[in-house]
Amino acid sequence: MTWGVSFDGVGRQAKYRIGYDGKQTDEATLAGIRLLGSTGHSFGLICVVTSAHVGGGREFMETVRHFEGLASVKLLPCYDQDVSVRPRATASGKLMQLYAGDRDGRGDRPGWTISPADYAEFVEDAQDTWISSGAWRRFSLEPTASIASNLSGLEGTYTDYSLTKDGQVLTLYPGGRVAGHDRAHEFIVNETTTDRIGELLDAQLAQADADWAPFLEECRSCSVWAGCRGSELFMRKVMRDAGLSNEFCDARRTIVSSVEQLLSGSQR
Ligand code: SF4
Repeated sequence: MTWGVSFDGVGRQAKYRIGYDGKQTDEATLAGIRLLGSTGHSFGLICVVTSAHVGGGREFMETVRHFEGLASVKLLPCYDQDVSVRPRATASGKLMQLYAGDRDGRGDRPGWTISPADYAEFVEDAQDTWISSGAWRRFSLEPTASIASNLSGLEGTYTDYSLTKDGQVLTLYPGGRVAGHDRAHEFIVNETTTDRIGELLDAQLAQADADWAPFLEECRSCSVWAGCRGSELFMRKVMRDAGLSNEFCDARRTIVSSVEQLLSGSQR
């Protein structure tokens, strides 16, 4: 168990990370990050890569690479193709209210959604800086580390790039509540209690097997299977429904190939 901090960077990169008052939270989060480091705690950062990050992989890595106590950075793509923009009484509802007119020009897709190609470029730039600055000696970077593990004959630990699939993931909440993957709305059973974890897992696995396992059939002949491991399957469904399967897989091939090059460069 370790601390995890959601942090998308500062300034323009934090555009979509806001509080209930509609203001960016980057300064307050930075204060928390400094407090963690100064008190000797190690922590991981989770960055949701949105359209505000396009072209900013190096900038993001320059922001975070000197943080004291930083143990890991995870770069998650914001593929919100299935999210409809509607105000709700939550921080994300506030976000939708503020940016309801902020579309990317492709249908109803919210403006913060990033394209697979832009996400791949962000990851490549971030990992280049991670390597060239020597930051790789101090903290890990995902998806790079899991892809490198996969290609080296070990298994990655990041579910998006591992053989652990959506149906096997559990999320624990305060008060003894248990849900599946944080996209649990994809599952028939949304939530349960700690004494019924077995039933939840059985239901999830059965559904994942029936609904999503066929996606893995498409991976059998793919050239990057050894590094990619087929993605999170709900994401495959979201991207297929949005007509973006090819774009999605092209981006993953780009990322896996870039890690292959890093590995071959390190062996010379
Ligand atoms: S790139 Fe697409 S088809 Fe290839 S292994 Fe990954 S998810 Fe499967």
